[in-house]
Amino acid sequence: MQHELDMRNNYKRPAKYYPVFDLDRCSRCGLCATACTWGEISLKVERVEKGKPVCVPFANKSSCGACHYCEKQCPEEAITIVEGPSTVTHRYWEGDIRNLYRQVDPGHPGHVLLISTGADSEAICYFDHLMFDACQVTNPPIDPLREPMELKTFLGRREYSNGPVSAGPVSAGPPKNGRPLSPVLEIDTPILFSAMSFGSINLRVQVAEGRAAGILGTFWNAGEGGLHKSLHKFRDRTIVQVASGRFGVSPGFFEHCSAVEIKIGQGAKPGIGGHLPGEKVTEQISETRMIPMGSDALSPAPHHDIYSIEDLRQLIYAIKEATRYEKPVSVKVSAVHNIAAIVSGIARAGADIIAIDGFRGGTGAAPRRIRQSMGIPIELAISAADRRLREEHIRHQVSLVAAGGIRNSADVLKAICLGANAVYVGTAVLISLGCGLCQRCYASKCSYGITTNRADLVQRIDIDVATESLVSLVTAWSEEIKELMGGMGINTIGSLVGNRERLRGLHLTRQELDVLGIKQAGE
Ligand code: SF4
Ligand code: SF4
Repeated sequence: MQHELDMRNNYKRPAKYYPVFDLDRCSRCGLCATACTWGEISLKVERVEKGKPVCVPFANKSSCGACHYCEKQCPEEAITIVEGPSTVTHRYWEGDIRNLYRQVDPGHPGHVLLISTGADSEAICYFDHLMFDACQVTNPPIDPLREPMELKTFLGRREYSNGPVSAGPVSAGPPKNGRPLSPVLEIDTPILFSAMSFGSINLRVQVAEGRAAGILGTFWNAGEGGLHKSLHKFRDRTIVQVASGRFGVSPGFFEHCSAVEIKIGQGAKPGIGGHLPGEKVTEQISETRMIPMGSDALSPAPHHDIYSIEDLRQLIYAIKEATRYEKPVSVKVSAVHNIAAIVSGIARAGADIIAIDGFRGGTGAAPRRIRQSMGIPIELAISAADRRLREEHIRHQVSLVAAGGIRNSADVLKAICLGANAVYVGTAVLISLGCGLCQRCYASKCSYGITTNRADLVQRIDIDVATESLVSLVTAWSEEIKELMGGMGINTIGSLVGNRERLRGLHLTRQELDVLGIKQAGE
């Protein structure tokens, strides 16, 4: 056969990852081909036994994103995902050459590159440069196994509010300046499940979050996609969102939650709206979002009725009126350059809680360039915001929730020492359900069944197992937090909020230490 040179081949991209099969271990069960939703694994007939074909798996070397699902599901442990050798000799262009080819490939005409989960850039992670204080000699540590440790946290206008929101109905507080006060949220651990909408994840995952939040005494956030009626039973543990798309928002909507969050921004894509493609808008999603089936669900980048702090104040108080001042109102913003002033304005606009989402915050889909290069780290943002509110003597008027890249219990506690009252976790929730961080949630083919609503894949989520996993995650982190607190001789989490004296910095410049408000190790 005559082969010809073809310029279109210039854009071929050698497989970055692919599965390698140990055929001595492989039992030829074929499960991996079913497990892979990306079309990477095929089966070919190896031989015929008793009239039946015996098939062996092979890698197509075309679409593996290293989600590792096949590897984990293989009953014989016969699969290893490997990274293809890079033959790019130019170090400066090495990271971009594949994406550049992708954008000019005539087979896939130019498009904005999408990506999921939070930024994976090599930008400094400040959490890794912070060390906790520890008790020695004159200030004895506390043994958390023998002494009570208090992780209970209250979110909202604590000083003047009318008591906690926990299970059951709440009543509005006495009027202040002519307006009743919203109650506070009471949580048993300073960890909440971050906003992930129905559409970006599926109902089974949301049910697991609702159940786990109830068991743990915390809250889950339903995200901007409305609230499916099957989730109404979790109303005592649910935070709902009002985003620019206003999906599912109605007076009835507010009856099924404990708090309402106005979503202005998201850490992974500050200044960018949301887009759930029409093909993902199933019957259930259309009903929940109150949009026609098959139509694109677009959240505009701005709220078209918010162009000033006064506009935001109107929306905050419209929601408070609609909920008879029975539910605290949170405002979620991305961590951006002028975050301290923004937070000050939001606090003065009447928000009870402000959630700040750092640039490592996760997402279902974000333009790759925005995810990697917009926003600032949560460590700097939360510290700047907390200090500004203290300087202005309005810190008590609002609680701060830190989000965006919280990876473990130490990150939780460091965020609290830098000024957060609590944290949101999102990517850690996905990982606790098995997610292999392939960063392709936007494709709605998640092999684990987490970030997809494809009927066949959703079944891969076992709600009981998912609930147990979430409970285990937060329980383990809470225990670790108690140990860290014990080592510092602290027995109530509240006394660590903004307690920067308990932190020291390593390998940071004087300017970075100043923004964080902490001392250099050794000082
Ligand atoms: S799942 Fe494992 S044992 Fe089954 S065919 Fe694939 S590699 Fe072989
Ligand atoms: S949740 Fe997203 S990142 Fe994780 S495995 Fe599924 S598609 Fe990949």
